[in-house]
Amino acid sequence: MAASFDLVVLGAGSGGYACALRAAQLDFNVALIEKDKVGGTCLHRGCIPTKAMLHAAEVADSVRMGSQFGVHAAIDKIDLAGVVSYADSVVARIYKGLSGLVNSNGITVVHGAGRLTRHDGHHVVSVDDETYQAPNLVLATGSYSRSLPGLEIDGAKILASEQALRLERLPTSAIVLGGGVIGVEFASAWRSFGVDVTIVEALPRLVSGEDPSISAGLERTFRKRGITMVTGAAMSSCQTTESGVRMELADGQVLEAELILVAVGRGPQTSGLGYPETGVDLEDGFVKVNERLETSVPGVYAVGDLVRGLQLAHRGFAHGIFVAEDIAHRTGLLKRPPATIVDLGVPRVTYSDPEIVSIGLSEDEARTRFGEVETFSYDLAGNGKSQILKTRGFVKLVRRPSGPVVGVHMIGARVSELVGEAQLITNWDAFPADVAGLIHAHPSQSEALGEAHLALAGKPLHSHG
Ligand code: FAD
Repeated sequence: MAASFDLVVLGAGSGGYACALRAAQLDFNVALIEKDKVGGTCLHRGCIPTKAMLHAAEVADSVRMGSQFGVHAAIDKIDLAGVVSYADSVVARIYKGLSGLVNSNGITVVHGAGRLTRHDGHHVVSVDDETYQAPNLVLATGSYSRSLPGLEIDGAKILASEQALRLERLPTSAIVLGGGVIGVEFASAWRSFGVDVTIVEALPRLVSGEDPSISAGLERTFRKRGITMVTGAAMSSCQTTESGVRMELADGQVLEAELILVAVGRGPQTSGLGYPETGVDLEDGFVKVNERLETSVPGVYAVGDLVRGLQLAHRGFAHGIFVAEDIAHRTGLLKRPPATIVDLGVPRVTYSDPEIVSIGLSEDEARTRFGEVETFSYDLAGNGKSQILKTRGFVKLVRRPSGPVVGVHMIGARVSELVGEAQLITNWDAFPADVAGLIHAHPSQSEALGEAHLALAGKPLHSHG
């Protein structure tokens, strides 16, 4: 006999657990099925451990550069096992809190690998011999690290991010294949730990999803930091050798290093789970959904990395909450339908040194959409707090002529902390004059955002407008 719930969620990562929590708050009886640990990629193998590693990297840089601030100190050693154990302790604390939250909300957690099947004419999730049914099901099985043909992740010399996070000894040299967010973050941290890093990127620039000015700024700083970058270069072959790995590029260049991190993107975890077999349409492996995140099967939804678009934890949270509220609205529990989740309104952060923040449209995207646009870049050289931190970078605004700000792009140490204000500006369609009227605390990096808007509003303070 099938166990019956109001909602069954398959996968307890950011998208799945957020959906379960919101649904439980709305008094749904929820089953959350997870084959590994509640929290998923972000908590156990993604956002949290990488950011802990990057924080340790920042500590290393602070020690190394202490003399520039009159504090003389030296690094004795980088104990990578110690870094991993620090990251583990952060993950463990968050995991404990999250598990408590899930339990206290009365959610039934089912431990096991689930599969979408049909039972008595209904879609259900089966785990071993048990069946879990509900009027609404949510697919939230996430994503996996992709590789390239002929490049098999062996976990020893050819690593994906999962293995790279478990390394207990630093390599002397590493090739990072892929200059997207994950590749750039690892390259940054490893360089801070003293590793000789080469990034290989097939596209002409790093972080190619960002405004080109941001890529240029990142590449400038990475070059100064001693990170080698080979862009516009595709890998043609790769072999392991006795001492490490040897990679040949399409232009004949040969690179050697102790190990390779393969960071060429993440694919949706949709195979072998019964999705297409039960009528759930896929496209390039991603689950096809409408704007309400409903799949081709009515009553079956998909959230998070399974859905084509930005693969970010906070987008997964937003998807999960949306689906729970949408179901509640359709069943009459909520009066108003929730607002649909649009990727353009999702903030993007790369936590390397320097950090990168973007929200909304790049200059080129805005030009394509609106024709003419106005832009302004405020150099962090004019920002007191950035000078104190000795960071370089800028805040770039993109605005519709005589209209609202449609894109904010920032690069520099610690700019991730400005992402909240940046998203309020674009998501509330603020005009430069609206933001120029807000008072930004001095000295803070948020002043750079204020100054850029003052300039676009025609009344620059510490810039030439
Ligand atoms: P997942 O978190 O992948 O969760 C899916 C869950 O489903 C997993 O727990 C899995 O075990 C489970 N599952 C799969 N199949 C089954 C099955 N058959 N039965 C039961 N359970 C199953 N995002 C950010 O926003 N900020 C960051 O700083 C950031 N850093 C990252 C760093 C790295 C190295 C990586 C890899 C990712 C990072 N991300 C970051 C992305 C973020 O982790 C993902 O966008 C997010 O985890 C997606 O959530 P999800 O719920 O869709 O999938």
